[in-house]
Amino acid sequence: MEKSVYIYTYGCQMNVHDSEKMIGLLSENGYKEAGTPAEADLIIFNTCAIREKAEQKFYSQLGRIKTLKKKKKDLVIAVAGCVAQEMQKKVFTRAPHVDFIFGPQNIGLLPDLLKRGQKMSVDINPALAGEEFTAERGSRTRAWVSIMYGCNNFCSYCIVPYTRGREVSRPPSSIVAEIRDLKARGYREVTLLGQNVNSYRSDTDFKGLLRLVASVGLDRVRFVTSHPRDLTADLVDAIAELPCLCEHIHLPLQSGSDRILRAMNRGYDYADYRKKIDMLRERVPGIAITSDIIVGFPGESDEDYLETLHALESIQYDGLFAFKYSKRRGTKAYSLEDQVPEIVKTTRLNRLLKLQDEMTLKKNLAYENGIVEILVEGRSETDEGRLCGRTRSNKIVTIQDNGDTEGDLVKVLIMKARMHSLEGIRTDKQAQATRF
Ligand code: SF4
Repeated sequence: MEKSVYIYTYGCQMNVHDSEKMIGLLSENGYKEAGTPAEADLIIFNTCAIREKAEQKFYSQLGRIKTLKKKKKDLVIAVAGCVAQEMQKKVFTRAPHVDFIFGPQNIGLLPDLLKRGQKMSVDINPALAGEEFTAERGSRTRAWVSIMYGCNNFCSYCIVPYTRGREVSRPPSSIVAEIRDLKARGYREVTLLGQNVNSYRSDTDFKGLLRLVASVGLDRVRFVTSHPRDLTADLVDAIAELPCLCEHIHLPLQSGSDRILRAMNRGYDYADYRKKIDMLRERVPGIAITSDIIVGFPGESDEDYLETLHALESIQYDGLFAFKYSKRRGTKAYSLEDQVPEIVKTTRLNRLLKLQDEMTLKKNLAYENGIVEILVEGRSETDEGRLCGRTRSNKIVTIQDNGDTEGDLVKVLIMKARMHSLEGIRTDKQAQATRF
């Protein structure tokens, strides 16, 4: 009889794509996706250890599943992802109802672990890191494609190099084959995924890979995440020259203070970073730039924080992911003294987010009365009567439902800009986009 699986996914796009791979692998092994945890025979928690909040949410949801396990004795509970890798013993102690634990590099062992049916955990195995599986993707139009695994950077606050291991790049032939297959199945957009995509190195470097991917002929190609230190002029030229490369880059700054950037071991200073922003805007007109900021890193003074605010005002990002520094056991910053009090972190974060909201709205308002091309993704989550899609610059746009379907590329005249999305009307197919 067919069994079913429910996956809780926490954290980044890397984890979302790992869950897609797990579902793909399990469907080859007789599982279908369950609509709710209560319907499932197997529940997997695909965890994230980057921030304390995601970890706490995982432990609380894991605790609630205990009652389900009591009622349904043959329910199997597995914990995957970075928390699993980092805290194997702690997970078993806090939650004895967990059956097995596997790290982010061990997805391929999942069918075997299910057969063994014993309490166990599996460590990172870098030899398996390049292994690929057919993912069961959430979208029929846009797909994530892993191009590399792990990270060599050891930013002092980050747990990723310890949980996902050192960098391993997938061979270009395997990446291109996966993208060709996606195109044949009707996909129009891919996002190349890695912790630090521009340090990709295999038979070619990242800009070489972009050229190979562009030759497949998809309408849109994106990539995430880029490390500012590895963003070279050659790479920016490749982005400018290849028409399928979308006009959006996510380039995490983390702090505007050189002192804090050094303590974070980021490998660049603010002046280097600022030059790269200028280069991107000069060579890729209309490019949207988003970023990550951490406030309250140990030792961050009022002056350091003000430098970050000045950086934001000067750069004017299209959007920002900002977080309070979260202490992660096992990282270099964990033992740093001079932790910033929680209340100070909260105040700093709120002020920064307010500033960014004003800038995001201003950026979006500049889209009003312009024409954009959107790739339709489906129904709007907030208004059933409308469709939603994304511009090449990654702005969310909603339009009246005129019968367009997922995967259509549609020209839209933007009528209204809001903080988190734009509203528009479909316009003549021949119209040229005036904004990205
Ligand atoms: S680049 Fe730094 S922040 Fe990003 S995954 Fe690697 S160590 Fe973590």
